[in-house]
This record gives sequence, C-alpha cells and structure tokens, in this order.
Amino acid sequence: MTDPYVEQLKSELRKIEDPHTGAPLGSAVRALAMSGGKLAVDVRLGYPATGWREQLEQILRARLAGYEGIESVTVEIGQAIAAHAVQGGLKPLQGVKNIVAVASGKGGVGKSTVAANLALALIAEGARVGVLDADIYGPSQPRMLGLSGRPETTEDKRIVPMQAHGLQAMSIGVLVDVDQAMIWRGPMATQALSQMLSETLWQDLDYLIIDLPPGTGDVQLTIAQRVPVAASIIVTTPQDVALDDVRRAVAMFRKVKVPILGIVENMSTHICSNCGHEEAIFGHGGGQRMATETGLPLLGRIPLEAVLGRSTDQGAPIVATDPDHPVSIRFRDIARSAAGRLSMQDVNTEIRMPKITISD
Ligand code: ADP
Ligand code: MG
Repeated sequence: MTDPYVEQLKSELRKIEDPHTGAPLGSAVRALAMSGGKLAVDVRLGYPATGWREQLEQILRARLAGYEGIESVTVEIGQAIAAHAVQGGLKPLQGVKNIVAVASGKGGVGKSTVAANLALALIAEGARVGVLDADIYGPSQPRMLGLSGRPETTEDKRIVPMQAHGLQAMSIGVLVDVDQAMIWRGPMATQALSQMLSETLWQDLDYLIIDLPPGTGDVQLTIAQRVPVAASIIVTTPQDVALDDVRRAVAMFRKVKVPILGIVENMSTHICSNCGHEEAIFGHGGGQRMATETGLPLLGRIPLEAVLGRSTDQGAPIVATDPDHPVSIRFRDIARSAAGRLSMQDVNTEIRMPKITISD
C-alpha cells in the first residue's frame, strides 16, 4: 500500500536537480519508507559519485526539513551503471559496459593527460575502469601510467590487460616497438588497433576510456565508425586556433552518430606553482564559446599546473596519488558529469549484461 504522504515526499525529492546529468534526480530516488517517525531514503545513481554522496545526502535532508512527522532520516546512496547503446548495429565489446573515446582536433592539447586522469578520476568515484591507448603513432599511456614490459597472454592468445593504479590498461606501446609502429600506414595501424581491441581480455569494466590519436583523419574516423563507442569527449585548449579543430572533431562524431558528452577545456588558466595565482594566459572562455556554438556542455576546465604535467609524465598521475588535490577534484567533477550525462542515454538492448554491479 502506498502512503500518499510518503509519495509526496518522494516526488519532492525526485525534483532535485542533479548537476551531473543536467536533469532532475527522477527515478534515481528509488524508494522511501516511513516507519513510525523514521524515514529511509534509497537513491541509486546511474554513474559513480563517491565524491558527491555526502553533499547529495545533505541536499536530500535539507529538502525534507520542515515536513511534519519525520523524526529521523537515513539515506542510502548506491550506484548502478548500465551499458549504453553504441553506434548502429555494432556489437558491444566483451567485458566492457561503455567505451568512451577521448578525442581532440589536434595534438598537444593534453588529450592523453586528460584521458589518463579522467580514467583515474572515474576510479576515485567508484567505477571499474580501463584505458586503451589508440594513439598508434605516439602512444603516451605507457609513460603516463607507468606501464613497462610486455603483457601476458592466455593460452588462447588473448592479451591480459596491464594493471596501473587500479586501472586495466593496454597500449600499442607495450605490444610492439614504437619505432616499428611509427612507419605503419593507415590500414596497418587500424588493423593493429582492432586486434588490440578484440584480443584484450577486459574484465568487468564499467568504462573503457580510449585515448584516440589526435586529429580527425582516417584512423580516427575508422575508430569512430567501427569501435562500439557509447560516447565521446572532446579536449581542447582555450585559444581560438584550437577551436577550429574542435569543430572538425564535433563534425566527425556527429557524422558517425557517436554522442558527444561534452568539451573539456585544458590549460584554461595558469596556476603559478610559487604563489598560486591563477591567470588566463591563453585567453578567456574559448571552451565556453565552443560549447555554446556546438550546443554541447562544457564538462569542466583544467588549469595548466606544473604538478599535473609532471606527475602524469612520470607515470604517477596526481589523480591517482592525491585524489583530493584541487586539480584531482576538478577531474572528479568532470568524470561525474561525463558519466552522469552518459547515464541519461539509451541503454543497450542488444546485450544482456551478465550482471550490473550494485555497490554502496
Ligand atoms: P596530447 O595527448 O594532446 O598530445 P599530452 O597529454 O601528451 O597531449 O600533453 C602534452 C604535454 O603537456 C605533456 O607533457 C603534459 O604533461 C603537458 N600537460 C598537458 N596538460 C597539462 C596541464 N593541464 N598542466 C600542465 N601540463 C600539462
Ligand atoms: Mg597524446
């Protein structure tokens, strides 16, 4: 039997805006139970949100304040990450719920840095995550994640992903000599990539982050067409010159019907490592202008900060070693917003996932 008063409370909580999805909590507020004066609230988010739980609990409690008859409230916030739809007709990858491609219109904007730290941020938020370095000609994930040696293979020739900071990781850089890959032509590069993609034994991942090669050429287009991608993220810097490249990247994903979760502006400002002063050395608001122009959300801004570049280039990214550092917090906010927006997309009906992990 439903109690109309409890139903009223429930619909009140369901109206709360979730900044990560850009929509009300809605059915994420699963159930309310009232017994005596004790109210139990059960929330289940479609994305990992360890860093937001405490605040969400406060928001829920504040919304309930002033309602009569509630003596105490207990709040439970869990997560259930679904597998989302991929481009037309493609078969999802075994062991991976969602592939998210991180792209940029050109090199040097910090795409690999953002991909690595974003993946680690998703882990910090409570997801199971892998990284696939698809940058055949300039793989940087081995260095950024501190991978060394060759991966193990199973008896049936599957590649076991390497482990780094809680991530599963694979890169052409640990499979072949980089000098060798450098001279591959387009078809060979895509062949190597699809092999790496289909032969790696990803294990029970909520998200596989793909660090795409920079640009919007044939290799990128092939990946965007053939890899079962749930969504993409575009990294840019604030300069106007970079923004033309963003337009091209946006056009590419739209052409192959891969949803774009939003734009990450990297090197937004410079934070002085001596005094902490923050300055927009590359100009203001480029990412925001681009977001407005394309109708995409600006997922967040990452400052140019020495400790971020240094730690990532040394194989121990700051988000892994210090998840509460201000720059790590920015990555975690972006991770929640990206995953939150992905959670609003259609669920993949072509597969039945063996299980959906539910955790508190
Ligand atoms: P891309 O993959 O787009 O070519 P990288 O991620 O390799 O770019 O970044 C290029 C260089 O800039 C790297 O040395 C990296 O450490 C540095 N870098 C990237 N983003 C930042 C940042 N926000 N602050 C400091 N250094 C950064
Ligand atoms: Mg790179």
